[in-house]
Amino acid sequence: MKKIYMDYAATTPAHEKVVEAMKPYFSGMYGNPSSVHSFGQEASEAVEEARGKIASLVGAGADEMYFTSGGTESDNWAVIGTACANGRKGKHIVTTPIEHHAVQDPVRHLGKSGWEISEVRVDRFGMVDPADLKKALRDDTVLVSVMHANNETGTIEPVAELSKVARSRGALFHTDAVQTAGAVETDVNSLGVDLLSISGHKLYGPKGVGALYVRKGTRIDRYMMGGGQEKGKRASTENVPGIVGFGAAAELARAEMKKRTDHLIPLRDKLIKGVLGSIDESFLNGHPVMRLPNNANFSIKYVEGESMLLNLDLMGVAASSGSACTSGSLAASHVLLSMGLPHDLAHGSLRLTLGRLTTESDIDYVLEILPGIVKKLRAMSPLYKKP
Ligand code: PLP
Repeated sequence: MKKIYMDYAATTPAHEKVVEAMKPYFSGMYGNPSSVHSFGQEASEAVEEARGKIASLVGAGADEMYFTSGGTESDNWAVIGTACANGRKGKHIVTTPIEHHAVQDPVRHLGKSGWEISEVRVDRFGMVDPADLKKALRDDTVLVSVMHANNETGTIEPVAELSKVARSRGALFHTDAVQTAGAVETDVNSLGVDLLSISGHKLYGPKGVGALYVRKGTRIDRYMMGGGQEKGKRASTENVPGIVGFGAAAELARAEMKKRTDHLIPLRDKLIKGVLGSIDESFLNGHPVMRLPNNANFSIKYVEGESMLLNLDLMGVAASSGSACTSGSLAASHVLLSMGLPHDLAHGSLRLTLGRLTTESDIDYVLEILPGIVKKLRAMSPLYKKP
């Protein structure tokens, strides 16, 4: 049976050049970058080279990039680290209801220890309005965290405008760029952010490695404590092969961004047009224009997202409903609910995310089988009446 992967927002396959770049660092050049001897020094040089490549991808200085264990740690650190370091200014954080749990959970944790949390609403496309952010800001606001693009709907937020509003009130601005770095133009200066999270495995790099950009001069406490790695800001021996692979992936993403986008947009648009045209009462979730080049997210009335996933999987297609982290549960997507979708539509969502290896025949195959799957499932629904 044909096997088609359409879940690139959950993770991407490591690029062959990434795997090649990593190989020597497992058992050949295995030194600890903190060691003073030659083994340590060659590992340290590799880490610094990778740091430069990742910094270049987002227009940052190499001395502003800190390696972490992934997007989750970068988000956790950005929230907790800035809160701890700036608590004397105030105890107020502003965020949105569509953030990834890696931001929402540490924010809620702070909420339990005396911090006040404001959530700025999103519109039906999942977009934050800078005017709403302005109203939520206070003199004691320490941090604003709004993601660059949403992992479920693909909606790209107006981060440059939002950060301007936040910083004019003296608040720090963090953005989770896990879905955008390497996929669309992501530049810390044009975005005007103080902190930005990235993850290796979303851009054809390895899993278990990420980075946090921290603008020079930003007050942030340590999150991982122990050794003096990462200029004393993030303890633990560096994941050298992972970091080298992440660097190679960042370099490739920068060089190939236009080519990848030009490949993805026509495929995404064909998929969206095909689904909406062949399935009645199907709707596109997220912004029609301001969306990631690889994201198509639908709600299909009278059908459970999970049932669609299982049926697609039986036909060889790997997709997702809600975010990867919650797709094991039957809870409706918090992102779609906060965009105002009713429960049944938030339950019936299907996320198809494309990548550099997706072909037009993959799209044709999904368009061929999906209407039949929906028809079969609707036939079992007591609520569905044929149009
Ligand atoms: N933030 C967003 C927007 C994501 O999509 C993800 C992963 O799904 C994460 C954070 C977590 O990243 P990681 O898997 O590297 O911990």
